Amino acid sequence: MASFSYPPPPPKKLSWSKDRECPSCHHRIAIRHPIYGILPCKECKRRQSQLPKPGKLPEFTSESIKQQRKEFHKDIEQPHRAGQLNKAWMDEVGEQQAKNWGFSDKEIKSAKYVYRGDDTYYKE
Ligand SMILES: [Zn+2]
Repeated sequence: MASFSYPPPPPKKLSWSKDRECPSCHHRIAIRHPIYGILPCKECKRRQSQLPKPGKLPEFTSESIKQQRKEFHKDIEQPHRAGQLNKAWMDEVGEQQAKNWGFSDKEIKSAKYVYRGDDTYYKE
C-alpha cells in the first residue's frame, strides 16, 4: 500500500530544527551526546574550555598580577632591591635623592643595576 513519490522528500534528520541548534550560540549545530543530550557546538565548547576554571582563578589572577608587576618594572626603576641601592634608579633621580632616601655614601658607591635584565627576583 506504500505510495512512492519522486523525487523523494529530503530526509527529516537533515532539516534545521530548534532541537539541533547549539544552546549556547543558537547558530551552529549542537553536539548530541548519548548520555548528556544536547551539548554546545564545537566552537562554543572550545571557547568555554579557554575560560579559566573557577578553581584555577586565584592562580590565574596572581599570575597576571605578577605579569603586570613585571611590565611595571620595565618602565619605572625601583630605588632598591632588598636594601641594595639600584644604580638605574639613581641614574634617573640623582645621588642626592638616594641620600634623601637614607642611603649612605658607601651604599651609593656600591650601587648596582639590580633590576635591569635580572629576572630572578620574580621567581622567588
Ligand atoms: Zn555554539
